[in-house]
Amino acid sequence: MLDFTHNDWKARAAALSFRNQAFIGGRFVDAADGDTFDCINPATGKVLTRVASCKTADVDAAVTAARKAFNSGSWSRMAPEGRKTVLLRLAELIRENLAEMALLDSLDMGKLVTDAATIDAPGSAYFFQWYAEAIDKIYDEVAPTGPGDLALIRRVPLGVVAAVTPWNFPLDMATWKSAAALAAGNSVVLKPAEQSPLSALRLAELAAEAGVPDGVFNVVPGFGETAGQALGLHMDVDCLAFTGSTEIGKLFMQYSGRSNMKAVWPETGGKSPNLIFADCENLDKAAEMAAFGIFFNQGETCSANSRLYVQREIKDAFVEKMVALAKANQPGDPLDPASKMGAIVDGKQTERIMRFIEAGKTTADLVVGGKQVTVDGQGHYVEPTIFDEVDHDDPIAREEIFGPVLSIIPFDTEAEAVKMANDSIYGLAASVWTDNLSRAHRVADAIHAGTVSVNTVDALSAATPFGGMKQSGFGRDLSLHSLDKYTALKTIWIKYQA
Ligand code: NAD
Repeated sequence: MLDFTHNDWKARAAALSFRNQAFIGGRFVDAADGDTFDCINPATGKVLTRVASCKTADVDAAVTAARKAFNSGSWSRMAPEGRKTVLLRLAELIRENLAEMALLDSLDMGKLVTDAATIDAPGSAYFFQWYAEAIDKIYDEVAPTGPGDLALIRRVPLGVVAAVTPWNFPLDMATWKSAAALAAGNSVVLKPAEQSPLSALRLAELAAEAGVPDGVFNVVPGFGETAGQALGLHMDVDCLAFTGSTEIGKLFMQYSGRSNMKAVWPETGGKSPNLIFADCENLDKAAEMAAFGIFFNQGETCSANSRLYVQREIKDAFVEKMVALAKANQPGDPLDPASKMGAIVDGKQTERIMRFIEAGKTTADLVVGGKQVTVDGQGHYVEPTIFDEVDHDDPIAREEIFGPVLSIIPFDTEAEAVKMANDSIYGLAASVWTDNLSRAHRVADAIHAGTVSVNTVDALSAATPFGGMKQSGFGRDLSLHSLDKYTALKTIWIKYQA
């Protein structure tokens, strides 16, 4: 772990230079029309750099480069062991540049640099390593035909995979898509969120240094309505892996239908329930993790446990614990290792969070927080905020706020808790706290969510699939299952003289 002080991080941030052009065909280039957009540090409001604003012409150039590289076979037909060597080198380069990668995400979207340095950046290196190590250990199949027939069932790369990613975990979301897609032999065109393009651009540079051939990994920074839509509608993109809001995930499915029927994998929003039963023995741990579940990354986490259902007999005592934890998690300068929460990504998101909070004040009991604040007189920050006695149908308990805002709702019976947990358009993740083994299994089975964590929150690893049900989308990142998204099954049937 990096043992830097606040001043160390500030000095490193001041010395940092930013990659701010698109990365197409192995080179950094300006947008074809020369356009750029401001890349702003939400902790200070200051412009970090101006980044190429890619549009249709740039997306066309990136897809053309990606297709050319794919057809050349420089990567797509490289033996898996060769791809493994290159991607392992990329993992190593991310580790060698860990502080820089962590700083890029922290400066770009406001997360704590210590989280970025201990979770996001090492995670990115590990995910590249994981897919690199996996890819030369996967076998194809032979179908059970009779003599005279040999039917091979092969997994082949799709071709050009486009990835459109959100701003909340910029490096990790870019990695979750591209590590698996690249390992499988595809070419990738990545469009990072306009709020946080910097780590993806540096990642492309590191990938080239690691030996990923020109054109195999391209990055087109830009806005959703321009670069994102151009990728969604492109006739030569074979697959579009999306992480972001449900609204835009639905748009990508339409783009596909309006263009070439590309496979679309949406991984979208969430409003994850966390159920605390009175038979949970370690309520201190449950509270500590419930606070982490909502306040980590300023609540800007798709799987944030933003609905907390607490059994009525322990509810008041549990709320007290949560209030104390909220008070201990105040926002501060993201570059200060002592800070507990960082800045909100931008003014627009801060306004959205505050609209929910102001509405909540009129319908529920605000027990802590509720204010927008600054740090050293600058930036966009929101206090950790908890509402108690929230009506299950209140918008603060229904809609994805994507900020540090928790709704606490009491329940009496297990059936009631499960019913409310499932009464949501989302189904990304859920948590259950109980020391009754039968209840743990029963409730985990009954909850409609891609991941149910029992006696923890947000359990996640490279080895387990991550994704949702219902309107949280149906794509799965991580694990070997993610490779299904980036490959097609191909049957090769051979007749021979038996
Ligand atoms: P967003 O949907 O606004 O943007 C995501 C990406 O889509 C960005 O790159 C953006 O530029 C692009 N985009 C926006 N409008 C577009 C359009 N009209 N056409 C094409 N592309 C467009 O989401 P966000 O605000 O960046 O991220 C927050 C959302 O992401 C939350 O809903 C969160 O739950 C979700 N998320 C989901 C997961 C998951 O794994 N399910 C993980 C992280 C974040």
